[in-house]
Amino acid sequence: MSVVGVLALQGDVHEHLVALAEADVLARPIRRPEELAEVDGVVLPGGESTAISRLLATFDLLEPLRARIKEGMPAYGSCAGMILLADEVLDGRADQHQLGGLDIVVRRNAFGRQVDSFEADVDLTGVGEVHAVFIRAPWVEKAGDGVEVLARVPDSAEAGDAAGRIVAVRQGHVLATSFHPELTGDGRVHRLFVDMVRAAG
Ligand code: GLN
Repeated sequence: MSVVGVLALQGDVHEHLVALAEADVLARPIRRPEELAEVDGVVLPGGESTAISRLLATFDLLEPLRARIKEGMPAYGSCAGMILLADEVLDGRADQHQLGGLDIVVRRNAFGRQVDSFEADVDLTGVGEVHAVFIRAPWVEKAGDGVEVLARVPDSAEAGDAAGRIVAVRQGHVLATSFHPELTGDGRVHRLFVDMVRAAG
């Protein structure tokens, strides 16, 4: 059975562990490099990306995790996790570390200027309609050529932006959503990721 780790330094770790267990994998928290070495894929939870990035350095996980993702280990980031996976962050803190792996530019707390938290039904490619919960969420401001855009939400504050803001992307073995499927009891996004892990193994 595939083993999927959840980075367990800060954030909604438990919710991801439950969602993964329901998707029929062995789900384990990761706090140490030895634990990272044993997993086939990793989930980066929602939380506070600046705190998680600092803790990644403190726990000696920053370089090993960067290396595994670069080598092709599947990774899924929700919200703060999406920020950590982005190659570039706007409105980040100067001392924020990036894991990288996704050729995207994200804007932190992007929707926060209009509304801190909201829910919306989004059409997620490969999954269908998903009820998405956004909590001080980032959006993807720019996606590189190799990045598949999986979902957008209308940005009501900018009437000209009819297509909406990008809130879910995939680039090969790396998946990211601005929203939190782990909070809604809808296991389809985690199952999509588990399929990616199985395909890589
Ligand atoms: N605003 C948070 C950050 O910048 C992300 C919020 C979340 O993960 N729900 O890290």
